Amino acid sequence: MGSEGEWQFFDITPQPGPKMASERQLSFIKDLILSKNVIDRDGALARLNSGELTLDQASTWIGELKALPYRPKVQKTWTVPENIPDGRYAIVGKDRNFKFFRVVTRNPDTINATRIVQKVLGAPGDFRYVRPTESEWTMAVEEITKDPGFHSALFGMKVGACGVCGSPLTDPESIALGIGPICARKYDW
Ligand SMILES: [Zn+2]
Repeated sequence: MGSEGEWQFFDITPQPGPKMASERQLSFIKDLILSKNVIDRDGALARLNSGELTLDQASTWIGELKALPYRPKVQKTWTVPENIPDGRYAIVGKDRNFKFFRVVTRNPDTINATRIVQKVLGAPGDFRYVRPTESEWTMAVEEITKDPGFHSALFGMKVGACGVCGSPLTDPESIALGIGPICARKYDW
């Protein structure tokens, strides 16, 4: 007895499961999740990294993601608030040193007019204007926008050149005010 049961065969051949998503699909999906306007980004990334995505599911998902609009770009950096007129400004940095900036409009009076922030290096008569880093730009506008007149005058006082137009200041009163007589008439900070 029992001899019949001893020779039962177990089918240990692995069942062909569904084909899983390829590396290429996964990396394409990741790019789409990051660039498209996906509402639940964390959830999507968790699904992507679950290791359970089949080739067919990945393919369907790619189609869905491609149909989404691109994520809107946040315009927080590389902009200049409207209350800051073109001119030169000094701020005190976190390291307690003065830092000098210029705000200038590129292509004024055209549809391509762009307002930019530049770092001011050098001395009156020999200023050089260089592109700031993103964090320098952000820090500059955050400070200047609180009181543009003050930071313009601070530039004039520290540098000895008009905070508005950059002309060297000669008479003591102008130096004390940080603004030249002509610009002082135009600006009432
Ligand atoms: Zn001036």
